[in-house]
Amino acid sequence: MNSAPINFPVMEKVNLLGMNRQDLEAFFVSIDEKAFRASQMMKWIHQTGVDDFAEMTNISKSLQQQLSQIAEIKALEVVVDQLSADGTRKWVFRLKDGNCIETVFIPEDDRGTLCISSQVGCALDCSFCSTARQGFSRNLGSDEILSQVWLASRLLHEENRPGRKISNLVLMGMGEPLLNYENVVKAIDVFLDDFAYGLSKRRVTVSTAGVLPAMDRLSDRHDVQLAISLHATDDELRNELVPVNRKYPIKELIAACHRFMAKRSPRSRLTIEYVMLAGVNDSEQHARELVRLMKGLSVLINLIPFNPFTDSGYKTSSSNAVNRFRDILQKASITTVIRKTRGEDIDAACGQLVGKVEDKSRRQKRFIKPRFGMHS
Ligand code: SAH
Repeated sequence: MNSAPINFPVMEKVNLLGMNRQDLEAFFVSIDEKAFRASQMMKWIHQTGVDDFAEMTNISKSLQQQLSQIAEIKALEVVVDQLSADGTRKWVFRLKDGNCIETVFIPEDDRGTLCISSQVGCALDCSFCSTARQGFSRNLGSDEILSQVWLASRLLHEENRPGRKISNLVLMGMGEPLLNYENVVKAIDVFLDDFAYGLSKRRVTVSTAGVLPAMDRLSDRHDVQLAISLHATDDELRNELVPVNRKYPIKELIAACHRFMAKRSPRSRLTIEYVMLAGVNDSEQHARELVRLMKGLSVLINLIPFNPFTDSGYKTSSSNAVNRFRDILQKASITTVIRKTRGEDIDAACGQLVGKVEDKSRRQKRFIKPRFGMHS
């Protein structure tokens, strides 16, 4: 007799990589285990870098077995791993759905910064950013955000060279972190947790184009560093460069910055990012306007040399223009640094991260032909 095949429902395993301590505690309690298992698990995953339950020596064999049936520690797939002449290392990671994101490690004398992505593509459509050209697919899950840090730590550790440790995390890769609020704050929980990465709140930076409601929410949840991508001093220009400005104009953005800083310790500073575009936003008049806007705010201004890409339509400001701009800010007692461009030879610099994005916003249709493939 022919019988139809029986389809057993395939239970998807839960990925413990994306859980903060609270989630892990709830998970262990749900399988009749003690909540303290959560901190043990966090240490194994994030401090020891283990992804196999069998290696977790303080967990009984029977629990190890039970865990392997219902849970997993599953990282992204590494598809490209590139090292720049200046020591910057860039990875392209493939997600389960075939999309790809990029993550960059930037070593400096006194720190190692990992720049991580928060979304697949970006919906904000900033005119000078190549990620924007990719369009937008979806938010990253907390497991996909944490996986970037987990993998980078492991791969850097394998290099076995001095100065290749992650000391700072910046959410400045692909995407707008504050449009993926829940997953981003969950990942930050883990960055700061002493049982996981144990980073100080001063070493974690969220960069935003100015999604104001989420800025207010963030200030209640985490005391991390905030960087604002300002790039223009009047609404007309900012509407063009950073279109989210139409929703949250400069005046409201600056007011939100004041609210954010009012909740921080008096010594803390807000970072203002300002990309230098030749003949667009880099005049002395713009610098003076910026000084005026910053009145009463404790800030560090980061002048970012524009990193060009094909058909961007913009040019990098001359070093003369950048220096003049910086001098005006510094004369007004505003700490200003000119950001060094890193990893240019492997397209790892600011605004050059493109990954591989299945665009769901149909943005690319506006362009004559897709301009970017995956770097490899
Ligand atoms: N969406 C967030 C974080 C990602 S962009 C934000 O807007 O802040 C990280 C930084 O790189 C932002 O300041 C962004 O404006 C800047 N950037 C984007 N494209 C750039 C380019 N081509 N050259 C230099 N900086 C760029």
